[in-house]
Amino acid sequence: MARTTPSSALEAASPVALRQKAAWLCEALDAEYGTLSWRSHGEPMGALVMTILSQHTSDKNSERAYDNLRRAFPNWDAVRTAEVTEIADTIRSGGLADAKAPRIKSVLQAIHEKQGVTNLDFLESLPTETAREYLLGFHGVGPKTMACVLMFSLGRPVLPVDTHVFRVSHRLGLIPQKIGEAKAHNALEALLAPERVYAFHVHMIRHGRRVCVALRPRCGACVLKEHCDYFQSGAAGETGKLTAVTRPAATAVRTLHGMKTPDSLPGSDDDAVPSV
Ligand code: SF4
Repeated sequence: MARTTPSSALEAASPVALRQKAAWLCEALDAEYGTLSWRSHGEPMGALVMTILSQHTSDKNSERAYDNLRRAFPNWDAVRTAEVTEIADTIRSGGLADAKAPRIKSVLQAIHEKQGVTNLDFLESLPTETAREYLLGFHGVGPKTMACVLMFSLGRPVLPVDTHVFRVSHRLGLIPQKIGEAKAHNALEALLAPERVYAFHVHMIRHGRRVCVALRPRCGACVLKEHCDYFQSGAAGETGKLTAVTRPAATAVRTLHGMKTPDSLPGSDDDAVPSV
């Protein structure tokens, strides 16, 4: 009998079945990586700038660029009124500084024009949908950046979909690949209970870096394979038959999109997040 391909399995799954599957996956990820409670990653303007800095570079580089920016300017107003070249020189270590500096300055200016202040603290009082639309209204702020601000800073159940979340979700059969990363945000969010969104995001990145890697996923060591369309279709081949896979050296997820995870913030007593 012909095997079911991942895409045909997804087409056959009902929304209810997909939500049940997502719930099972959340449980399995929690069991593997530990339960995780949201804690704020800082004020929303900082999260917005950090997410812009994290585009197309490593977390380490963007973190350094962000720290340099905060040291060089006393507040966001000072960044807004600085010359683009001055901002670019400050964030040079983060890569693509000449593209990111004008983007940061123009977003800060646009926010100041709308609000009369250069901060986003008022987002906390807005309903999630209103805050979502507000952020997406700025040039250069796409679904992932918007979701990072709302989820990491404010704890809203808005799911950022990066390359790891997208790849692993597609292989699992939660979303079709043709949907693209932009639409995947809403599609995946609809499958998750709101209280699961934060942990799902963090755990899927951890899983994508450690097990469901891009080129040769380590299906033999994967705790999700029972409900993975890619694995169940036989596409994993020899990789999927491995029974003993040496796990990579433990490396804690200390940063996501350049932002420190709550467990790595100063003064944290949350050691529930295991290393990967
Ligand atoms: S079984 Fe393989 S393809 Fe599926 S999630 Fe695990 S590592 Fe990824």
